[in-house]
Amino acid sequence: MKSSPVLFCFTVDDLCFEGYSSEEHLRRLLDFCAKQELKATLFTVPLAQGKALRERPGYVSILKDAIAAGHEVGQHGLEHDRFEFGIPPAMVLALSHEGPARERLKNHRAEIEKELAIAPLRRRLARGRDILKQALGLPIQGFRGPCLSICDNLFHALEAERFVYDSSRHMQPGGWDLLNRGACVPSPITRKVFDSLQYAGSLRVLPLTAEYTWYLKPAMFDATLKLAIHDFDACMDAGIPFVPICHVSPIREGEEDCGFKLYRELIRHAQERAAAAGAELRMLTLSEACQTLPALARSQEKQNGGTHG
Ligand SMILES: [Zn+2]
Repeated sequence: MKSSPVLFCFTVDDLCFEGYSSEEHLRRLLDFCAKQELKATLFTVPLAQGKALRERPGYVSILKDAIAAGHEVGQHGLEHDRFEFGIPPAMVLALSHEGPARERLKNHRAEIEKELAIAPLRRRLARGRDILKQALGLPIQGFRGPCLSICDNLFHALEAERFVYDSSRHMQPGGWDLLNRGACVPSPITRKVFDSLQYAGSLRVLPLTAEYTWYLKPAMFDATLKLAIHDFDACMDAGIPFVPICHVSPIREGEEDCGFKLYRELIRHAQERAAAAGAELRMLTLSEACQTLPALARSQEKQNGGTHG
């Protein structure tokens, strides 16, 4: 029997967010995608530093070209405030640059949680989506919270605002253990874990795996590539999309081009592994993955004799 296609959904966060994104770095990243035939979902901050996307003509023009080349633009928060759509997981708040966010959560948790009711969440979602839609002239289907922040109400609000999918949840905390402690024991990635992260309503949840190229240094290269290969293989075996995340400037600003080198090696591995299994490796945006998934789930069920492994 022919194997199910293997879905590789490359995602990029923080477009427009000053300090973590520049137009030059974004152009280089898109050139890399073109060379590697990678399709990217570009999570863009609608109102970064208080400036709406339409006031950034350089980005608008790059994004329109990217969409024409087959990439997708998703919504990444509104202003990229850490707490505007939920609370980031402890592993993200533990990162060295998140000191101010840790302090704010410690001192203002009640006010933060009050702002996470469905009505204010819907207002912020709609405002961000409309800013992106106005600047780019097309509807936005997907969302990712800043710093992986989530709360239960976020999923209700996304469904009420008719988003097609969310990609704020994560599957591999080991990626952040590598950043925080320099070592990790990979968490298992299975169909069961993927299913447990789904939302009961019409919203599709496409969890990301991990970030592998955050200012990556040569000393951490081998351990990080090992984790990325582990995660790709686990997603392939489970028949679920592999959704790595990178950030516009941090992938470029690692030492000795480590970020792009990691993806070159990871993609080569993915191609070889898929070919060995007689499976097609598909580079897809998250919207495209959503369209593919129901069919994929059916063919997986057939292969597994009707059960989910
Ligand atoms: Zn972000």
